[in-house]
Amino acid sequence: MRFVLIALCAFATCSPAIADNLPGFDAAGSAAQRELEEEFDASLSAADQRTWMRRLAAKPHHVGSKAGKENADYIASLFESWGYDVELAEYRILLPTPATRELELVAPTQFTASLTEDSLPEDPSTAVRDELLPPYNAFSIDGDIEGELVFVNYGIPEDYELLERYGIDVKGKIAIAKYGRSWRGIKPKLAAEKGAIGTILYSDPGDDGYGRGDVYPNGPFKHASAVQRGSVMDMPTYPGDVLTPGRGATAKARRLPLTKATTLTRIPVLPISQRDALPLLSAMGGDAVPPEWRGALPITYHFGPGPARVRMKLKFNWETVSAYNVIARMEGEHSPDQWVIRGNHHDGWNHGAADPISGLVALMSEAKAVGMLAKSGKRPGRTIIYAAWDAEEPGLIGSTEWAEHHADSLKEHAVAYLNTDGNSRGFVRIGGSHTLERFFDRVTQDVIDPQTGATVKARRRAQLLVNASNDGERKEANRDTLRISPLGSGSDYTPFLQHLGIASANISFGGEGPDGSYHTLYDTEQHFTTWRDPGLEYGVTLSKVAGRATLRLANAALLPFEFEGLADNVALYAKEIEKLAADMREQTTRRNRYLDDGLFKLALDPKKTLGPPVAETPVPFFNFAPLQNALQDLQTAAAAYGKALESGATPSQSINELLYTSERLLTRDAGLNGRPWYRHHLYAPGFYTGYGVKTLPGVREAIEQRDYDAVSHEIDTVAKILNDIAMRVSNLEKLLGS
Ligand SMILES: [Zn+2]
Repeated sequence: MRFVLIALCAFATCSPAIADNLPGFDAAGSAAQRELEEEFDASLSAADQRTWMRRLAAKPHHVGSKAGKENADYIASLFESWGYDVELAEYRILLPTPATRELELVAPTQFTASLTEDSLPEDPSTAVRDELLPPYNAFSIDGDIEGELVFVNYGIPEDYELLERYGIDVKGKIAIAKYGRSWRGIKPKLAAEKGAIGTILYSDPGDDGYGRGDVYPNGPFKHASAVQRGSVMDMPTYPGDVLTPGRGATAKARRLPLTKATTLTRIPVLPISQRDALPLLSAMGGDAVPPEWRGALPITYHFGPGPARVRMKLKFNWETVSAYNVIARMEGEHSPDQWVIRGNHHDGWNHGAADPISGLVALMSEAKAVGMLAKSGKRPGRTIIYAAWDAEEPGLIGSTEWAEHHADSLKEHAVAYLNTDGNSRGFVRIGGSHTLERFFDRVTQDVIDPQTGATVKARRRAQLLVNASNDGERKEANRDTLRISPLGSGSDYTPFLQHLGIASANISFGGEGPDGSYHTLYDTEQHFTTWRDPGLEYGVTLSKVAGRATLRLANAALLPFEFEGLADNVALYAKEIEKLAADMREQTTRRNRYLDDGLFKLALDPKKTLGPPVAETPVPFFNFAPLQNALQDLQTAAAAYGKALESGATPSQSINELLYTSERLLTRDAGLNGRPWYRHHLYAPGFYTGYGVKTLPGVREAIEQRDYDAVSHEIDTVAKILNDIAMRVSNLEKLLGS
């Protein structure tokens, strides 16, 4: 403790808060909790994490593999030895694996893509290929197609707008897109909507290969033969087993016929390396692309279509396999019916040292330390459930099936869900429910960064300040409580947060361990411990952050949810959306006027093929008043609750229940427009961005997708939700005072 104080003062952030009570604890409770955390820290070990990583990342271990099941059994046996009640929760899920993958350039020259990754003598583990799944995109449909190539840059909506201005259509063609800028599944989804018959994804060396730095094994960046695998299931519609949306995929569960599953791609899609992409892109003609579309290959990039023609043949084994979640429960001492859940997946596309093992071993350290505390008579107050999920990679399947299977009891008992999914070196990154923003701010004040001796909060603030490029960003960096980001999707928190309305968070360190190994053969222990987090120092630091969060939520007399942070963030989103509408209105009006006046024609080079944009429907004015009024009520109620907290509160079981179920009020059973599985109305993955979050998604996406008639209904829905939570917060304030 002394060390913490000295380190803090040295960084000029010596805060009196350090002596203050922890959120939700009184003075005696805070002292006891701090003592407990010191004991917890003392049990964390980088050597443990290294040992487990070596074992768990020794070979490829995707869901359905023998190695995957061995890993699940090993993790379960460790949890058992630490004193947990352990269950291997099995689900029967659909998993396509490749049977045929062929890609050939048939004109104007001939080339057959190798579709394989090289073993490297410098990293012998890359030759360990038992059960290795070759590069593919899971949940692509089968197909045997031939067509001309069109280069679509990153394959996101704005890229298609530009293609249209060049008069280039992907209808009947095969779209070749760079990885990056959106979640990969968006690329075939959009290409199919535009009429393409297939999609090829490749990693451009400008994004994560030699254009960025030295490549593996001489550096962390992407080897020329490396291919990013990954799911292209339409997760923004619903994640999890494609045949059992909304239900746990138990052996007896009712299943959709495969033809009724809406989350498979509509066209075949295959990922390839830069090495295989080069001959295809070199053979393309048409106009040269604009500078911002170029990559780092030594060629001039052309749009096509053609003359490059490719034939692509894909066939998958559509098999049912078992996914094994390891669920380890430590019964709470005084509130066993309130559950704090902490998870990380265990399956990997390949060896998966970074993704997911680096996060999983941090979780295992935490569980071991909590087990040791329990053995010495210091059990957590609430129940802690540690989960090592299976089948995250193909589509968040293990966690989603478990959450759907146990939906009713989770809605009743789950206090919060804390997720990690891999780790690296550098700055703390937290995304989550904003009712926990201040809680996490306090946690990050109490953990020391291993490289600098500052608190992880001080380092994060320094990074924000130094990189701030305008007053707005500087103001954000100086915000008393550092903002946590809203959660989109891309990991196992999604079923808890967005389907069930359980307050959630996702935690990692990063920013200093750049990487091109993601979902490739080169995500090995050697790569990770050479380039990402040598010594696993940040693995231990992650355990300290996530472990404190878990233990404080488990032990706090009064659950540390608060609502001023929530109201402040929602106000920010509302402001963003009003600005979005205003900007779109202005741009659309200007564009239409310039079109009417013929200005685009005068401004564009008549010898070039770039045409004017198309006219858009003018953007109407929307009535945001119901949202703003509800927001004001929430702000008032939240401030009153904050005051009541300061004047001392007597916690009770029922107050705690009202606190942790408050996140449920942010959901609606009917879900979001067109995707009922997603029920949270503050946070959702973007329908056209994938992992990227859309806050107030109903309103925001209706405007972005120019579905103007839907906007006022969406505003009313959010206003009602904010009214509900404002009322809950008022009730809580009254209960605290009584
Ligand atoms: Zn992962």
